[in-house]
Amino acid sequence: MKAIRLEEPGRFTRISLEPVTAVLQPDEALVRVHRIGVCGTDIHAFRGDQPFFTYPRILGHELGVEVLELGGSAFASYGATGPAEGFGPGGYCAVEPYLNCGACIACRQGKPNCCVRLSVLGVHVDGGMRETLIVPIRKLHPSKNLTLDQLALVETLAIGCHAVDRAGLEKGEFVLVIGAGPIGLGVMQFAIEAGAQVIVLDINAQRLEFCRRRLNVPYVIDASRENVLAALAEITTGDLPTAVFDATGNGRSMASAFEYPANGGRLILVGLFQGEITFNDPNFHRRELTILASRNARPDDFTRIIALIEAKRIDTSPWITHRARLSDVVTEFALWTKAEIGVIKAMIEA
Ligand SMILES: [Zn+2]
Ligand SMILES: [Zn+2]
Repeated sequence: MKAIRLEEPGRFTRISLEPVTAVLQPDEALVRVHRIGVCGTDIHAFRGDQPFFTYPRILGHELGVEVLELGGSAFASYGATGPAEGFGPGGYCAVEPYLNCGACIACRQGKPNCCVRLSVLGVHVDGGMRETLIVPIRKLHPSKNLTLDQLALVETLAIGCHAVDRAGLEKGEFVLVIGAGPIGLGVMQFAIEAGAQVIVLDINAQRLEFCRRRLNVPYVIDASRENVLAALAEITTGDLPTAVFDATGNGRSMASAFEYPANGGRLILVGLFQGEITFNDPNFHRRELTILASRNARPDDFTRIIALIEAKRIDTSPWITHRARLSDVVTEFALWTKAEIGVIKAMIEA
């Protein structure tokens, strides 16, 4: 079976793996990987600036797959919530790549996304840049209607969906999203879906225009040209936004994000920064801010997103800007890491 492996920062190779011959456990499925979305995590792994990353690694955690075979008494083990009608060989699924232990405090509280022993497919263990893969059946989220491209986008969207869930947005409230990269775009789509009035802040005019035109975001602020606080005050008639999402993963941006929420508001940190963030305590206390981290996504985010795409309430058409065959990843990938190429989502066809 063909696969692509990242041997070390900056170097992919084409490899050939033994075909899967092991007998599946009752809770496992063998799947054919058809689509692999590329995201910031993969780009960090390629650049070698993700300290916890180990090499070599087969990347790929945003997957659109087809079920080939289910282990043992698979249907019984799929549990009370499933299997969905028609779930079985030949069915298409999104994959929830967060492999959790099921026993720790977070898992016991229904938060497998932040499991103490979390292992992410394509990050901590080898992922989906290959033809076939064994995954736990409970990590498959089927759909009879979504395309394989759409199924591979579900995980990216789930990051934004979960962040919006964390904030508990109410209809009509002003929400600021800092950072118009893929994570920010997901947050914006679900904030709009929740009925919020979305403002996007970025320093890239092209990305801001994209948000306005393709995502129908009503308010955009270009931090490279505008005074951000003054612009926020003008849009919100002096109130400031009641929820602020940081989707930059940039330490300086995250620190300045503490300046933007309204009194009594909340700040949701979605992007991850490898370091410390400091803030002024009186400024934080005076406004009684709530800070929330948002990590990965929960299983019900996946089912909800699939239903929203099926109902045409989430539009996936703006997302995919670049495409390649699995064997071309070795040469194409470096290009996708360049800002001027304007990649929103590169999709690999395996
Ligand atoms: Zn991702
Ligand atoms: Zn756990």
